Amino acid sequence: MLNVTLEKQKNLMKVTFAGDLTKNIPLEELVGPPAPNMIINCRDLLRINSVGIRVWLRYFRMLAERRVHVTLQECPPSIVEHFNNISNFRGKAVVESILVPYRCIACKNGETILYTIEEIQERLPPVETKCGHCGKSSVFDDITQEYFRFTKEID
Ligand SMILES: [Zn+2]
Repeated sequence: MLNVTLEKQKNLMKVTFAGDLTKNIPLEELVGPPAPNMIINCRDLLRINSVGIRVWLRYFRMLAERRVHVTLQECPPSIVEHFNNISNFRGKAVVESILVPYRCIACKNGETILYTIEEIQERLPPVETKCGHCGKSSVFDDITQEYFRFTKEID
């Protein structure tokens, strides 16, 4: 199930998507009329399947048509994958930051670290970091050429 939370200010709407986007849900109705500026946080959006992708694409197409200025924050691996593989997945949205996945070699603990697109464009995140659980070596848990590919296409 997708949990949507909203915080409205004058011309700005902050939205968080959490849980699973795996069913054909009326996302436009759930979020309600968009504000001129929207910040969408996806940190806890765990899973999106082919049905969810269609819901997402429909929603972001609508936002683009209405010329809503959309910023996507803290996009997890489930979303980043589609930035790279589906053209127009982000519509006209600006991707501000993404979560970079690491996995510990010793204890297998999986973690994500937040990076802004600016930081990534300046320098790719390290391939290795310290496990927050056991302190041993935790390595980047994806393919560098794939995971960061979309950041090269952003100005
Ligand atoms: Zn560990």
